[in-house]
Formats: sequence, C-alpha cells, structure tokens
Amino acid sequence: MQDKELRKQYSLQIPGLLADLKKAAQQWIDEPKQAHFDEFFTKILNISGSAAMFGHIEIGNIAKLMQDEMSPFFRSDKHPTEAEIQHIIGINQQLLSMMQQAETDPKTEIREIQFKAKIIDKEFMHIIVLENDPVLAKDIKQKLTSTSFEISTISEISQITSSVQKNTGCIIVSLDSLAAEDLITLGNIERIRASIPLIFTSGSSDINARLKAVQAGGQAFISKPLDYTQVLRSIDSLTERQQQQQYRILIIDDQKSLSDYYASILKASDFEVLSVNNPEHELMPALADFEPDLILLDLYMPYCNGQELAGIIRQMDNLLSVPLIFLSAEASTDLQLRAMSTGADAFLTKPVSPDDLLLTVQSRIKRGRAVYDLVTKDPLSGLLNRRESIRRLEEISRSRRKNTPLSVAMVDLDHFKKINDTLGHSVGDWVIKFFARSMQLIFRECDIIGRYGGEEFIIIFPDTLPEAAQLACKRLKKYIIASTHDLPTSFTYSGGLALLNDQDDSKAILDRTDIALYKAKEKGRNKVITATDNPTH
Ligand code: GH3
Ligand code: MG
Ligand code: MG
Repeated sequence: MQDKELRKQYSLQIPGLLADLKKAAQQWIDEPKQAHFDEFFTKILNISGSAAMFGHIEIGNIAKLMQDEMSPFFRSDKHPTEAEIQHIIGINQQLLSMMQQAETDPKTEIREIQFKAKIIDKEFMHIIVLENDPVLAKDIKQKLTSTSFEISTISEISQITSSVQKNTGCIIVSLDSLAAEDLITLGNIERIRASIPLIFTSGSSDINARLKAVQAGGQAFISKPLDYTQVLRSIDSLTERQQQQQYRILIIDDQKSLSDYYASILKASDFEVLSVNNPEHELMPALADFEPDLILLDLYMPYCNGQELAGIIRQMDNLLSVPLIFLSAEASTDLQLRAMSTGADAFLTKPVSPDDLLLTVQSRIKRGRAVYDLVTKDPLSGLLNRRESIRRLEEISRSRRKNTPLSVAMVDLDHFKKINDTLGHSVGDWVIKFFARSMQLIFRECDIIGRYGGEEFIIIFPDTLPEAAQLACKRLKKYIIASTHDLPTSFTYSGGLALLNDQDDSKAILDRTDIALYKAKEKGRNKVITATDNPTH
C-alpha cells in the first residue's frame, strides 16, 4: 500500500520534474556555461536518485546513465567536447520522452525490482566477464586481476547463473557478444538484476546500444576500446568496494518506542544508528560527533517541529549533502510536498513498514554518498581530492589529543613523465590508479589517503610515529615490486615524511614533507626520507 502511495505521489511530481529538466537542459544548450551545466546536472541527480525508488526503473536507469556521462564535468574545469555535448543531449531527449510517456500513460509498467548494492570485502571480490572475443577477455582478466579482483571469463549467457559466487560483486557483459534474445534472458534473471550490478561494454556507443543496455538492466555502459580506469571507477561506484564503514543514521523522534522500532530494523540491516529523543539537549552534540550519513526526522515534536530542525541542519556546512527523510502520521500529500520543500529528500508516512524504511534509506544514502563523493573525491584514483585532503589534515590536527603522534607523508611517482612519454597517457593513468589502490590495500583503514596533484599523493597517518610510517611505506614498496609482473611497466616512488608538532598548521607540516620529498628525489629516488627537523617526541 505504502509503495503504491509513494509511487502515485512521485508520478504527480513527474510533470514538475520534467518541466524543470527541460528548462535546465535548454538553458545549457542555449548558453553552455558551467553554471548552466551544474544546474542541469542537479536536475538529473534529482531524477536518478528518486525515479527507481518510486518504481520508475527505466527512467532511473537512463538518468543514472546521464549522471555517469555528465559527472566528470560537474563543478570541474573539464569541459565536454562537441561530441560529448551531442551525446548528452541525445540521452536527455530519450529521458524526456520516457518521462513524458510516464506522465501521460499511467499504466506504464512498474517493476518491483529494487537494486541493492552488495558490500563486499574489498580484497576478495569476484567478477564475471562475459566476452566472446578471447583476446579482449584475456586482457580484461589480466588487467583486473592485477588490481586484486578474482575474475571468471565466460563466453555464453547460459554460463552466468552457474558462475555466480557468494562474493560476486558485478558482471561485465559485452553487448557485442549478445543476440537480442540473450538480452531478454539477461533482463529476466531477477536474482542477478536485483543484487549484482551489470556493466555493459560495447564497440558501439550510439544511443541504440546504450538504450539496449539500459533496457537489459545495465547500471553502467563503457564503450570499447576499454579505458580500464573507467572500468574500475564503475566497479567501485557500483559495488561500494571502498565502503568499509557502516552507514550512520541519526533518528530524531520524541517517541522513544518509535525510534527504537526504526533503530531495530536498521540495525538488523547493518546500519549504525543513533537516536535522539530530546533534541533540545541531544541534537547538537549528535550532529557534531556522529557525522550521520542520513537523518530520519519526525515532523511533529513538542520542542520544535521537524521543518525547523531541517532548517537548522541545512545551515550546517558539513551536513548540506546529508539526506533528510521526514517521518509523520500526516498523510496529506499537500503537506508532505510542503515539508519536502524545506530541504527534505523524502517523506515516510507512519506507520512505516520495514521494507519502506529500508528501501527509502538505502536509495537516499546512495545518492547522498554520490553527491558527497563528487565533491570530495578525485575521479581518476578514487582517493580524496586535494582540497578534501587538506581539510582532513586540518580537522584531524585540530582535534588530535596532544599526546598522540601524527605523521604525514607526501609521495611522488619517480620519472613518471617518462612512463607517459614512452607508453602513453593511458598507461600513466593506469599506474596512478594502481598505485592508489595499492596504498588503500597496504595502509591501515584509518590512514587518510589523497591525491595531492598529478602523480603526487598525501597520506595522513594518525597515531603514528615516522618510524612506523616508514615501515608502512616499505611494505608498499614491497607490494609494488611483487606485483610488477602483472603491470604494463615497473615503477617506483619517493616520499617525504614529517611528524606533526604542536605549533604546526597544515601548511607548515606540508612544507616539511615537501622538503624531505625533494631530498629523496635528489638522493636518487625510490626512497622515503623523514624530515630531520622533526620535534623529538
Ligand atoms: P620525478 O621523479 O622528478 O618526480 O619526475 P617526474 O617525471 O615524475 O616528474 P614531473 O613533474 O616532471 O612529471 C610529472 C608528469 O606527470 C607530468 C604530467 O604530464 C604527468 N601527469 C600528471 N597528472 C597526470 C595524470 O592524471 N595522468 C597521467 N597519465 N599523467 C599525469
Ligand atoms: Mg614524479
Ligand atoms: Mg610531481
């Protein structure tokens, strides 16, 4: 019942979303400047984040496709080429016409399948590759194995079901290997569609190929020749492979019995939950310390109402992208829409069924993360970007207890220009990606790793003396040497390490790591040097 009600409510919103999207797209086409692009992209995010959840799977899929195509240019210095612009406009046309159809045809097929990404241990993910070109299949296998995946290559669709393992994280399917009836078969394997993301690859990237992929339930589309960086990025974003922490959900409801009920459902699905029953005293500390990924908010409370709280939350910088979901016994659509206009992302009507709660929370969190990632992560390596790395360094050095050491390393690939010059830029990109992944594998989970510049990286090691950080860097070096036979080229890196002292700000310590890095380069590279002017500890 609840599902149908939400879907109906969403269908009512389609005309508005459609008009908004049309306007934003036209504005960008007429005047292709960054602000217009960003506005257009935000509309797409809106649709991709909500359509599938409300049962409009195809619209959601097309919007996600758009999102993938557009995200490299969002808030970025990179601009789409003329061909890319045409491409974006083409998919948008398709999206607009699908939305128009959904608006005029209430009988549009609604599928019940909800895609849920599996969270898999990052070291042991299994991937199925359906590719009937043996040379390419071998190449994919080799490239992905070197990035610590386990790969099964198959050449026929009938082999998929028997190849699925417990740790299968995604399936990469070559559209070129499939006949029309195979696509239907694939679309019908419900078990796969619902839990394992499909990535399609194809020699043709025209709208027909893409449409085929979307209709068969594909979550990503990559054209051949394959750019492996893009393949890895799709795998990561679809499988949340790097998501090792539990998602945190904050529940604000004055009725303890209710918040306990929601908490029990969410905890059973592996969310970390904090309940606030008395916002006047508990809310501010909870917002500051708990760093929620999503907030569930009761609309009516004695001390202040949910809309006012939403206002407070939206005023906090670090919570701008956190999804807010209102909970209320109020069933009036009008009031729900009004409440949503204050910055909430969804509305759940009490009593909330466990399925509705989980479905809404999962899809909203995914979208919140996607937006957060766009702003804080470097797309090539998947590491934190420069700005976020510095912000983290400032934050962690400020909150550090005075008696715990903190080391920072700046590392840079050696003679990287030569790799680009002799083997090409895409091999260079591959090395950057591989290096980033190696650091994630070797360093501890609490270590913070960012891409500081082209082939320069920063690592923050909390609770660590430089001697221990040196050891970690040696382990990294060993790992890279041991992997050399899987790589297109061997490479080394140099680094500078420094210990944070009590007077340091982020600039001072980064200066010292820089000087130490420079020394390492001067002394022949392939080494990590600790700054000698570190304070004694
Ligand atoms: P050194 O050992 O002194 O660090 O030498 P180097 O060649 O690594 O250093 P240099 O700073 O001369 O060159 C860095 C090169 O890295 C130049 C630039 O084109 C390349 N680069 C920067 N960002 C990227 C990227 O995203 N992808 C690729 N493929 N290359 C990049
Ligand atoms: Mg270099
Ligand atoms: Mg450099």
